Amino acid sequence: MAALQEKRSSEERRRKSVQNGTQTSQGQWGRAWEVDWFSLASILFLLVFAPLIVYYFIMSCDQYQCSLINPLVDLLMGNTHLSDIWNKTPTLTYKAAGIYILWVTFQVILYVFIPDFCHKFLPGYVGGIQEGAVTPAGVVNKYEINGLQAWIITHVLWFANAFYFHCFSPTIIFDNWIPLLWCANILGYGVSTFAMIKGYFFPTNAKDCKFTGNFFYDYMMGIEFNPRIGKWFDFKLFFNGRPGIVAWTLINLSYAAKQQELYGQVTNSMILVNALQGIYVLDFFWNEAWYLKTIDICHDHFGWYLGWGDCVWLPYLYTLQGLYLVYHPVQLGTANAVGILILGLVGYYIFRVTNHQKDLFRRTNGNCKIWGKKPEYIECSYMSVDGTRYYSKLMTSGFWGWARHFNYTGDLMGSLAYCLTCGFAHILPYFYIVYMAILLIHRCVRDEHRCFSKYGKDWKRYTTKVPYRLIPGVF
Ligand code: NDP
Repeated sequence: MAALQEKRSSEERRRKSVQNGTQTSQGQWGRAWEVDWFSLASILFLLVFAPLIVYYFIMSCDQYQCSLINPLVDLLMGNTHLSDIWNKTPTLTYKAAGIYILWVTFQVILYVFIPDFCHKFLPGYVGGIQEGAVTPAGVVNKYEINGLQAWIITHVLWFANAFYFHCFSPTIIFDNWIPLLWCANILGYGVSTFAMIKGYFFPTNAKDCKFTGNFFYDYMMGIEFNPRIGKWFDFKLFFNGRPGIVAWTLINLSYAAKQQELYGQVTNSMILVNALQGIYVLDFFWNEAWYLKTIDICHDHFGWYLGWGDCVWLPYLYTLQGLYLVYHPVQLGTANAVGILILGLVGYYIFRVTNHQKDLFRRTNGNCKIWGKKPEYIECSYMSVDGTRYYSKLMTSGFWGWARHFNYTGDLMGSLAYCLTCGFAHILPYFYIVYMAILLIHRCVRDEHRCFSKYGKDWKRYTTKVPYRLIPGVF
C-alpha cells in the first residue's frame, strides 16, 4: 500500500509545515497541502454549481433562444416551473450513448495505438516520444505526442463523411447536443471518481500523490499527479486534448452545418468563430510537446477539475459562440468582421510569441536570441522532495519583460474576438471572456503563489524586475 504510506507521510509533511509556519520547505512547491476555508468554499460551490451552469446555458439555448434572463423571468413570474423546464429537456438516448462511446473509443485508439508519424514529414513539428518536466518527486515522464495526427485523422474522416460518404449528418453533434451532455457527464464523473480511487489504492507514482485530508479538495484538485494506465495512457494528456480539444473544432463544424441546413448559408460570424478557434486548436496540437511544460501537466493533479472539466466544461462552454450563432445567425458588416479578425489574430500572435519565447529560452537554457538579442534573466534554484537542488532561470526580456503573464493577455484578446462575432443582442456568448478573465487571473495568482513557494527570494527578485502581471503599467 505505497499510496497509503505516502498518505501518512503527506499528512506528516502537512503537520510539520504547519508547525514550522513555512510553506517553502523542500518539495512543498506542488499543489497546496492545506485547504483554507476560501478554497474549500470555492470548491464546494464549483462541485455543486458548475454542472448546473453548463445545463442552464445549454438549456437556455434549447428552450429560450439563448436568453439567459428569460428562463429566470419565467420562473419568477410563475409562467413556468422547474419541472416544466426539466420535462422539456431531452433525455439520454441510446443513439447519443452509441455516438459518445464510439467517439471516445476512437480517440483512445488514435492515442494509444497509432504512434506519431507527423513529425517524420512535417518540418518543425515536435511529435513522437517526448519528456515532460521534473515532477515534485523528481520523476521525468515520457509521453507519446500524437495529438496533431489524431486531430488530422479525425477531421479528414469528418470531411470525407460530410462531402462523400454521407454515413451520418454533419449536424449530428448539434442534433444530439443535450443527450451527449449526459454522456459527457457520466464520463467526467466516472473518470474523476476512478482517479480518486486509483490515487488511494494503485497510484502510478505514490511519491507524487498529495493528500490534504479534505475529501472534497482531493476529489476536485486530484490526488495523483500523473495517473496512467500502462506505460502510455496518460490521463491528463488524453482527457485535455482528445475528448475536449479535438472535439472543439468538430463541434464548431457541426454548428456551421446546422446554419447551412436551417438558413441555406453560413454567416461570416460563424466562419470567423470556426477560423479563429480553429487556429487556437491547431496551435495547441502543433505545440502539444510544449504543452507538457504548461501548468496543467507540470503542476496540476488529476481530479474532477481536469477530468470533468475536460469532458463537460470545455466542449460545452468553449463552443457557446457557435451554438449561439445557430439560433441567431449574425452577418457582420465588413469593417466589424475585419476588426474582429485583426483583434483575434493580434491576440493569437501575442499568445504564441510569448509562449514560444519562454519555450525557446528554457529549451536552450538561455542560449538563444529573443528579439535579436541575448535574453536577460534571473538565476534561481529550488529543491525536490528527495532534497536534490535544481537550478533554473526566469527570463526578464522579450514579452516576459513586459509583464509576467503576457501570454494570458494575448489569450484574452483572442477570447474577446470570439465573443464579439456574436454582436451585442445577448450576454450568453460573452460568458467566455468573463470566464477566461477569471480563470487566467486566478491562474496567474495561483501560479505566482506556487512560484514563490518554489523559488522563494529568487521569485521576489523577479517580481521586482517585472512588476506587472498582465498589462504593463496597469496590472
Ligand atoms: P505559463 O506558460 O505562463 O507557465 C507558467 C510557468 O512558467 C511558471 O509556473 C514557471 O514555471 C514558468 N515561468 C514563469 N515566469 C517565467 C519566466 N519569466 N521565464 C521562464 N519561465 C517562467 O502558464 P500556463 O501553463 O498557465 O499557460 C500556458 C498557455 O496556455 C498560456 O498562453 C495560457 O493563456 C494558455 N491557457 C489556456 C487555457 C484555456 O482554457 N484556453 C487554460 C490555461 C492556459 P517553472 O516552475 O518551470 O519555473
